[in-house]
Amino acid sequence: MSKVKNLSPETKNAQALHQFEATTGALSPAIYPSSTFVRDENYQLTNAQHSYGRAENPGYIVAEKVLAELEGAPAALLFSSGTAAAMAVVQSLRPGDQIVAPKIMYWGLRNWLIKFCDIWGLGLELFDAADSDALANTVKQGKTKLVWIETPCNPSWDIIDIAVAAEIAHAAGARLAVDSTVATPVLTQPIKHGADIVVHSATKYLNGHCDIVAGAVVTASQDEFWERVCEMRTDGGAILGSFEAFLLQRGMRTLFLRIRKACESALTLAEHFDGHAGVEAVIYPGLPSHPGHTVARRQMDGGFGGMLCIQVKGGADDALKIVKRCEVFTRATSFGGVESLIEHRYSIEGEGSPVPRDWLRLSIGIESVDDLIADLEQAIE
Ligand code: PLP
Repeated sequence: MSKVKNLSPETKNAQALHQFEATTGALSPAIYPSSTFVRDENYQLTNAQHSYGRAENPGYIVAEKVLAELEGAPAALLFSSGTAAAMAVVQSLRPGDQIVAPKIMYWGLRNWLIKFCDIWGLGLELFDAADSDALANTVKQGKTKLVWIETPCNPSWDIIDIAVAAEIAHAAGARLAVDSTVATPVLTQPIKHGADIVVHSATKYLNGHCDIVAGAVVTASQDEFWERVCEMRTDGGAILGSFEAFLLQRGMRTLFLRIRKACESALTLAEHFDGHAGVEAVIYPGLPSHPGHTVARRQMDGGFGGMLCIQVKGGADDALKIVKRCEVFTRATSFGGVESLIEHRYSIEGEGSPVPRDWLRLSIGIESVDDLIADLEQAIE
């Protein structure tokens, strides 16, 4: 038995819980491209957990176990994308159930929810996450079955108090699902605050290298709802490729280092441009002026994340001119990688987007923050 007690999450994560390959002793896990698994002469599976590739892959185990551990959860399930993970949760509801979700959240998912709820006979009510009373006023006792939140919300960086949302959801007889892609388990463990389900786009920080698309659902309890979520993956086959599962577990090992560096640099950059002559406003939960700062201080442990927006002076054209002049920031959508990205969200989301046209979204990576600041300085000038 280990004499070293209470290992920190950082240690457990870096070592992936010491999950070595039992048969070979390989420290790094194998990649299993196999679509099927053999049975012996008595027609018994070699390993009862694995029978067919649409249901399971031995290569998922390392990342699923580590993620569950980091979230303080009994189980986690990998999916082919963050969207597929979210879909499995929503599709586990029944027709007539109502979902309550923020007006500003990851736009792709919000747009899908609007379409899907209509087709599938689910109710959908959107609330203003910037208004602390809005959720309680939107939830309907006995009718709302899922409260879906993101915190920080992408890309407004509104902070939602998870404990309060959990109380509201549970009082109404609903589950609380938290998309924790932006916070990651390094900064927030939603289950500790009362969430029932946690969803990640593992494409972002969990992987951290912009080289896979992946998702995960984590559960607070292995109940009947969780069984339905698991069946959604098995039945539908929104599974992660075996190589992608390998890259995910490898990327996750440096999660704490990457997140800490991103948080530190994002705060430095936000403070530098807050009140800057060429900038209208900086939207970052780490700034005391941010409306969600007090809740963020309580709910986010060790930093405020690597994501922020800069409201430029002028309109969309001026914002796009700044993007054009950037040399260190890379012009691309997505976030959570080691390299810093800049994007004009309105151009990505298009007509009808609630994101102001003069906002630029920044994903802060692990480069020297001085280089990032210098780049924006010259671009804004
Ligand atoms: N959740 C958030 C907060 C996101 O930003 C995204 C994608 O940008 C998703 C979910 C969807 O994830 P994926 O692109 O892996 O399907």
